[in-house]
Amino acid sequence: MILRAKYILAEDLKPIENGFVRIESTRIVEIGRGHRQDSIDCGDAVLMPGLVNAHTHLELGGMLGKVPPTNRFVDWLRQIAPMMRSMVGQDEALRIAVRAGLLASVKGGTTRLGDISRFFEPTRETIADVASRPIVTSFGEVLGTRPHDLDRIVQYPEEGLTSSETLVAGISPHATYSVPPDVMRECMAVSRKYNVPTCIHAAESLEEVEFLSSGTGPMRDFLESMGAWDASRQPIGSRPIEYLNQIGVLGPKTLLAHCNYIDDHEIELLAGSATSVAYCPRTHHAFGHPPHRFVEMMAAGINVSLGTDSLASNPSLSMLDEIRFIRNHRSDLPVETIIRMATINGRRALNDSIDYAGIVNGSSAELIAIPLEQSGPTDPLENVLTGSHLPTHCIIAGCSVLN
Ligand SMILES: [Zn+2]
Repeated sequence: MILRAKYILAEDLKPIENGFVRIESTRIVEIGRGHRQDSIDCGDAVLMPGLVNAHTHLELGGMLGKVPPTNRFVDWLRQIAPMMRSMVGQDEALRIAVRAGLLASVKGGTTRLGDISRFFEPTRETIADVASRPIVTSFGEVLGTRPHDLDRIVQYPEEGLTSSETLVAGISPHATYSVPPDVMRECMAVSRKYNVPTCIHAAESLEEVEFLSSGTGPMRDFLESMGAWDASRQPIGSRPIEYLNQIGVLGPKTLLAHCNYIDDHEIELLAGSATSVAYCPRTHHAFGHPPHRFVEMMAAGINVSLGTDSLASNPSLSMLDEIRFIRNHRSDLPVETIIRMATINGRRALNDSIDYAGIVNGSSAELIAIPLEQSGPTDPLENVLTGSHLPTHCIIAGCSVLN
């Protein structure tokens, strides 16, 4: 397959004008200038690496608009928790939400995503059944204080599912406040045993920081009301990232979602341990958190990726919407930084050892073509980030999935 476009975002996101990309099987084997016979013409468009949604919950697709985010995170949790419980056994609704989320992701330019899955068996079956979808890292979620059959969460073949290059397993002890340290350690042991990545919600709210530091506050009240408070298993006295460091959770295979409340020492801990972060800009904004420290984090060497989070806190699963939102709110940031966060950083966060930004020879064929806004900026990256067009072409694992 050969694709041509007005611009190709090649190595280091440098644009090649009137370029083409040749794909064989699942790899890019040639990049150049000019026309090639039998090429698929993407027209006046930017052909760029596919976007990576490092943090979402496809299963929550039915919650769109039901519980608007508020300034008090725990109030939102109180409303979401019973809705989550009512989803038990609702497999058909779950499948519909997951399928719709995968298709919406592709339409919004996502070629890879990290999905947190509480009901992992029906969800993974559904993902495996959808042909035109992103590559998924499915993090099986562990919640609460009871022992779990953790091996089952990360072992696909024993569940009769096919573990493949486009559907891989991960494990997700839910959050610092909802999973006690002994279960957290068990999860990490399973992660190491099967060599799969881990994703944890961390430093998401002020209530979480207070709870970890002193064992008090609205989060404690919430856990007590849910019957999930166990004083004998609650670590007290550290901030969230310090706590995760103490129990050996940080490291290059760990991805922390949110990190909205992080101090300087915690930035050092994340950088020193090569832990990745998934910043969710629109969700962060909807909850009214103080400015996120992602620029300082990246300056310290932390790999910061981007996520949409779920439709319970975000109006869409489109990564194009997400990066355009950042561009709109942070015009001081270089556009290359935003694209890097949404591409190479996302792949690294999902455990892919990629060492290039942009489309390069030998890389896996995950590409999208975004039509240029005719009256938009001449810089192709700026044009994509300030425009409103959706992808016309999307290639995932070497296959065209949009048309
Ligand atoms: Zn989440």
